Amino acid sequence: MRLAKRLERLPPYLFVEMSRKIAQKRAQGVNVISFAIGDPDLPTPPHIVEALRTASLDPANHRYPETEGLPQLRRAIAAWYRRRFGVELDPDEEVLPLIGSKEGIGHMALCLIDPGDIALVPDPGYPVYAMGTIIAGGEPYYLPLREENGFLPDLSQVPSQVLARAKVLWINYPNNPTGAVADLKFFEQVVHFAQQNDLVVCHDAPYTEVTFDGYEAPSFLQVPGAKEVGVEFHSFSKSYNMTGWRIGMAVGNARLIRALRDVKSNLDSGIPQAIQLMAIAALEGPQECIAQHNAVYQRRRDLLVQTLRDLGLRVQPPLASLYIWARVPEGDTSLSFTQRLLDEVAVVVTPGSGYGPSGEGYIRLSLTVPEEDFQEGLRRLQSFRRSGKV
Ligand SMILES: *Cc1c(COP(=O)(O)O)cnc(C)c1O
Repeated sequence: MRLAKRLERLPPYLFVEMSRKIAQKRAQGVNVISFAIGDPDLPTPPHIVEALRTASLDPANHRYPETEGLPQLRRAIAAWYRRRFGVELDPDEEVLPLIGSKEGIGHMALCLIDPGDIALVPDPGYPVYAMGTIIAGGEPYYLPLREENGFLPDLSQVPSQVLARAKVLWINYPNNPTGAVADLKFFEQVVHFAQQNDLVVCHDAPYTEVTFDGYEAPSFLQVPGAKEVGVEFHSFSKSYNMTGWRIGMAVGNARLIRALRDVKSNLDSGIPQAIQLMAIAALEGPQECIAQHNAVYQRRRDLLVQTLRDLGLRVQPPLASLYIWARVPEGDTSLSFTQRLLDEVAVVVTPGSGYGPSGEGYIRLSLTVPEEDFQEGLRRLQSFRRSGKV
């Protein structure tokens, strides 16, 4: 049996040793508390689940859906973009529902990347931008996100021989894993850079609704010219606690949306219609759930930031996203600190180096830990300090 070479180009799973240790601890009966998973712990709001219950009874929803999604969902997405961001979208040409935004991000690489092409991807970053590129036969080029630049990429540092082969620039704000945000001025620079270098821009924006301290995250498409060069990926997963239902969307440039639809129509058969009807209920129903969820995350953010600062870690409270990105103490690496936390107090965090070389020296902690575990996790981190380990 001979598998495709592209599988060999996927890097080995970085956390093998950590996963083995966690499994070992759990097998010994240790109650391991994990701050590693970015999956909302609170359930999908009841009115959205109710829409599924109703929709599931209608035989019209028992059949194959259309790739391009229900027209009423595309209209609901366009109306939400107008209300929320003041962005106008043609629901037939500029909106495409997805089986979660991860699916669209992965498939977008097939629309843009030929063997030998380069994709500019953030480092640290959500791994799918680079992996989708590799699966499509291309090469990721890592753009370091440095703390002194507010975790924005320095576009002037991309070498011209890289730019000559680059087809697409991936950006993601509010950012996973750093929690950083970007303003419209940065998005304007991105549009200008894309125009000058003939690049497509893909902005991954699943955290625009997960914000704190009154901050409102913009859409990339608010910037003049953005729709000529790019698309934005969005998701119901983080805004409405709908990770398990798998639904998101791509919006923006009509040619890119058509290309993604053409690839998808040959590889998948769309989103179950009952789930599309949940998404409509989410966008058109009461929106209080968003502020309620954010209040929970904001309180956890404050408690966790304080606890980490007491440990001597350097950390800024993020204005958005579900993550705390903290600098490990002097003398530790991402991995050594992560392993010490696991060994000493049975707390799991994600080593920043897992998100790319520039993530070295950081750890990521997620705010989506169920309340009781969260409190226990804080107590354990505090005991780590009292034990004099930092
Ligand atoms: C969670 C996440 C996604 C994936 O969202 P789905 O719509 O659930 O596939 C995409 N990008 C980033 C940066 C994420 O953190």
